[in-house]
Amino acid sequence: MAKKIAVLPGDGIGKEVTAGALQILQAVGERFGRQFEFSYGKIGGEAYDATGSPLPEETVSLCKESDAVLLGAVGGPKWDQLPVHLRPEQGLLKIRKELNLFANLRPTTFYKSLADSSPLRPEVIEDVDMLMVRELTGGLYFGKPSERLNRNGKEAAVDTLFYQREEMERVIETAFKLARKRKKKVTSVDKANVLESSRMWREVAEEIAKKFPDVELQHMLVDNAAMQLIKNPKQFDVIVTENMFGDILSDEASVLTGSLGMLPSASLSLTGPYLYEPIHGSAPDIQGKNIANPIAMILSAAMMLRLSFGLEDEAKAVENAVNHVLNAGYRTKDLVSSDAKIITTTEMVEKIKAALLDHELSLSI
Ligand code: NAD
Repeated sequence: MAKKIAVLPGDGIGKEVTAGALQILQAVGERFGRQFEFSYGKIGGEAYDATGSPLPEETVSLCKESDAVLLGAVGGPKWDQLPVHLRPEQGLLKIRKELNLFANLRPTTFYKSLADSSPLRPEVIEDVDMLMVRELTGGLYFGKPSERLNRNGKEAAVDTLFYQREEMERVIETAFKLARKRKKKVTSVDKANVLESSRMWREVAEEIAKKFPDVELQHMLVDNAAMQLIKNPKQFDVIVTENMFGDILSDEASVLTGSLGMLPSASLSLTGPYLYEPIHGSAPDIQGKNIANPIAMILSAAMMLRLSFGLEDEAKAVENAVNHVLNAGYRTKDLVSSDAKIITTTEMVEKIKAALLDHELSLSI
């Protein structure tokens, strides 16, 4: 049966990289005899222009009726002056909430061919292979109250860091399950020396760990984690942390291996559908120039093949095809290196597709 995929290209380069990922999925279908059915929905600025809302109801229904959701990126200067609740980014926050996407997975992988694109020395990043699991629907970004106040005639502001135990349990348990399939180590990041929510987080992590005796649990304070990510990133396997800490640390982790344009993500719920998107934004500065790196989006599609459809060989074939093209020296403009062959977005997609359709190549690398 065909897998139903809701496609939300969004704004800016979101459209360009989504078009590339769909070509790769079509090639996967051709190569492995799989059927994918794409249905398009609007989100972000484009949706606001068409309907007055950054997340129209029909987009929510489309996603809920699909087996998986593929999202490009939202936002851009055109919509920056809108009231907060109408801004494109609200579409993103709302779809996460609507689909109950509580765990955001961001892998950071070392690519030998890109070692010189990282600001860190090759020996520091060599063989880095970590997975950040960020809680996505709770914490400071959703807690109430979140408002301006007047206290004793003085202007003030408050945001609330609120978590229920079960919200902590489900994301920490997800991290342990994922670690079991990897190097069997979970680093739980918190600020337990200061925050009550972090002390509860640590307690929950200890409890969950009892169910996974084969997985090592380490606790780390967030300030130390920020330092260790740069100093010795190889020590990490799976990192699990609450929403805001994860937001900050995952962007830090992203620079380890080169460009924002390389990093995919998956957001999971208890029931599905899951949502897949690159971690970068809509990059208005390069929109329409055919220079965006489509790899983060293509690798997000590979995560979809693996996590939503259980198509491990297909996912591996896509990843191998990407590796092959990078090893051959081809780069989009964001991946600077001395002897790179700079190519456009569409050329990069074509090369990855060609490598994918080359049977011997894509499974053997
Ligand atoms: P951005 O990620 O769009 O861009 C940051 C820098 O990285 C830019 O110089 C951009 O050209 C470059 N870049 C990003 N992706 C690239 C790619 N695939 N290939 C080559 N270069 C790439 O972040 P920003 O500039 O802070 O934000 C731009 C807009 O995107 C804003 O409206 C912001 O709110 C939105 N945004 C959306 C998401 C999302 O949809 N998930 C995430 C972050 C930012």
